[in-house]
Amino acid sequence: MATVEYQRIGKSFGAVTIMRDISFRIEDHEFVVLLGPSGCGKTTLLRMTAGLESVSEGDLMIGGKRVNDVHPRDRSIAMVFQNYALYPTMKVYDNIAFSLEVAKIPAADIKKRVEWTAATLNLTAYLDRYPKELSGGQRQRVAMGRAMVREAEVFLFDEPLSNLDAKLRAHMRTEIRQLHNRLKTTTIYVTHDQIEAMTMADKIVVMRAGKIEQIGSPDDVYDRPASKYVADFIGSSSINFLPGTVVVGNGAPAVDTATGRVTVEESSALKPGQKVVLGLRPTDVVVDADGPLVAKAILTERLGHDAQLFCEGPEGSFVAVVDKAARFSEGAEIRFAIPPSKVHVFDAETEIRI
Ligand code: ATP
Repeated sequence: MATVEYQRIGKSFGAVTIMRDISFRIEDHEFVVLLGPSGCGKTTLLRMTAGLESVSEGDLMIGGKRVNDVHPRDRSIAMVFQNYALYPTMKVYDNIAFSLEVAKIPAADIKKRVEWTAATLNLTAYLDRYPKELSGGQRQRVAMGRAMVREAEVFLFDEPLSNLDAKLRAHMRTEIRQLHNRLKTTTIYVTHDQIEAMTMADKIVVMRAGKIEQIGSPDDVYDRPASKYVADFIGSSSINFLPGTVVVGNGAPAVDTATGRVTVEESSALKPGQKVVLGLRPTDVVVDADGPLVAKAILTERLGHDAQLFCEGPEGSFVAVVDKAARFSEGAEIRFAIPPSKVHVFDAETEIRI
């Protein structure tokens, strides 16, 4: 059973504490993405899991056993790094075989393992090449092969796609996920790219400054972001934030903002006069002549399947995803509506979801 459990994990470098009280559990076979901006501590958490960094506080459990003091080699984990870390003077075969040779596995078994790994990753045709004779995506697959060949119980990925161009990144995303669907090895994957997290994860752990901000499925973090921070981080086009005050509208609660009055879902946590911030995703606002929100059109940016309409509202920019056939003249006043169920409400002070 390759569960991974973090129990009140803390990390300090010298006198500086960069992480405290991290607790969560990764189930056997799960694909978990650690997501957050640069410096939030996700790489450090991954390196502690691998045993490349010591654990300052708490218990790190792999397969139900405490591994704080277990050597990386004995943790049954395999890690794929951002820079691939391939040996340039070794052919693909030897790159993949290396860790098994170091472990003194019999040559016949090594051959079998390497051939199976190469077949799984579509690398059979390249076993005789040097890394410099491969494309970026092929090199990335060799790096994965080096990890996979060891039959580890947990795979750790540290931003493995960040050196690839956008198209190849999208392709490798699906390859890695398909591979996981086949092998079902428990996987922890670090990235700052929310699209990677949304498309690959069973569960996303959103981190902020050494703490966990939210843990949930991709749908959970997108549909019910726990804080303004998560709402801002998740989503392809960035969310509109409108500060406002809770009022009682026509029976339903509403929020008065400088851009207009927005009806929100009933909640006992909302009190008239309360200061809040609304989060409105550009994909959820619709152009509607009777809508309550008003902003001035500035520019339409076509995206192929649809378009983004950039507007200037009283609180700054306001963005909506619109039909690509629609035309808006610069400076025109556009009205928008949004269904109450799509409005995210955050406390203005704590920035926590209400
Ligand atoms: P990135 O995506 O840029 O790698 P990250 O979220 O993975 O960022 P970490 O690399 O885990 O973040 O770093 C978390 C914090 O710990 C940062 O403030 C960093 O400066 C600090 N840190 C990391 N390694 C060390 C170290 N060896 N000594 C001192 N501070 C460190």
